Amino acid sequence: MFNRQAYEMGAAPNQIRQIFEYGRQQAKLLGPDKVYDFSLGNPSIPAPDKVNRSIHQLLDTESSIRIHGYTSGVGGDPLREAVAANLFERFGVKARMENVFISCGAAPALQAVLVALRTEKSEIIGIAPYFMEYKAFTEANGSRFVLVPADPEKFQVNIPALAAAVNENTQAVILNSPNNPSGAILTEETIRAVAALLTERASQYGHPIYIIADEPYRELAYDGAKVTFIPTIYRDTIVCYSWSKSLSMPGERIGYVYVPEEAADSHELFLAVAGAARASGHICAPSLIQRAVAECIDCMPDLKAYDVNRKLLYHGLTEIGYECVKPDGAFYLFVKTPGGDNSVFCEKAKARNLLVVPSEPFGVEGYFRLGYCVSKEMIERALPVFREVFEEMR
Ligand code: PLP
Repeated sequence: MFNRQAYEMGAAPNQIRQIFEYGRQQAKLLGPDKVYDFSLGNPSIPAPDKVNRSIHQLLDTESSIRIHGYTSGVGGDPLREAVAANLFERFGVKARMENVFISCGAAPALQAVLVALRTEKSEIIGIAPYFMEYKAFTEANGSRFVLVPADPEKFQVNIPALAAAVNENTQAVILNSPNNPSGAILTEETIRAVAALLTERASQYGHPIYIIADEPYRELAYDGAKVTFIPTIYRDTIVCYSWSKSLSMPGERIGYVYVPEEAADSHELFLAVAGAARASGHICAPSLIQRAVAECIDCMPDLKAYDVNRKLLYHGLTEIGYECVKPDGAFYLFVKTPGGDNSVFCEKAKARNLLVVPSEPFGVEGYFRLGYCVSKEMIERALPVFREVFEEMR
């Protein structure tokens, strides 16, 4: 006998991984230049030099026992202090290290927060399109996941739809800006409207309704687009962050949860997050990487290569006739499926080894996602193939 839910999650194919594995096999069979794989969100720019230099230096200068030893369960002081100081410098929030829990990336951060917020009838709202794990994590730990479609024009939050979904069981709304998969950045106006709605409902129901700000793409914004730091607008915000994308180190598994001092029940909530992380075995994030990130807290990604890809792909596709909202952030394009039938489109594309992710796992129909964290040269080779599939779908 197994835990049925855990079994089903393990046995269900992760579509993105499946497509990626298929691409790898095809590349072996036909040669890498015959495959156009846009499936994964794996950064394609290298980590800043300082990251690798810091790791080398720490290995050369620190005691091996210490640098590979456990830190405190909630994370070591150097990184917690560095995060708190960095949040103060950048956003003016009065963060202290006691508000920062170091996690093994954004996914375990989210998981811990969702467990911490679970109550008997808890509901968590996700704005579709959303990162597919929101639903999986929420349901796996016994809360109800409620999907609210974004406005399809700009992928901002549809406030009337959100208002209809919030009820007395709502514990949190997850906002992800810049967004995976749409690349949209929530405007300050949108965040203020969400904040006003949640403030009103929280006072009506007599309990806080949190915003979970899932921010692994915070630093990936183009053309000077502003990414609003949500705690500066809404007090009851819990931030889940990771350096997976900003420092191109997703394999190192490092991020944090920030529970602002001013948030409702801040201290208890922080302890609940720490307890939830403990219950899932995700404490003591990797020590060496904690220290290296603390040294690199001010490093920003060099987005030039992504920006070139973004423009090339966006202009190339819209010139062919594809429709998509120009993304302001992250490294994804969310494209309307020509002809409307996603499965037909994806099969036709796959037959040409053009590998894209259909939108259903993100909670909406009729789109596909492209990760442009790939080589520019692959985009150039892929554009004629996109044209062929487009012509066939008309
Ligand atoms: N949230 C979003 C929106 C993501 O796209 C991802 C990863 O792609 C994560 C969270 C998880 O990030 P991490 O690799 O830090 O666990």
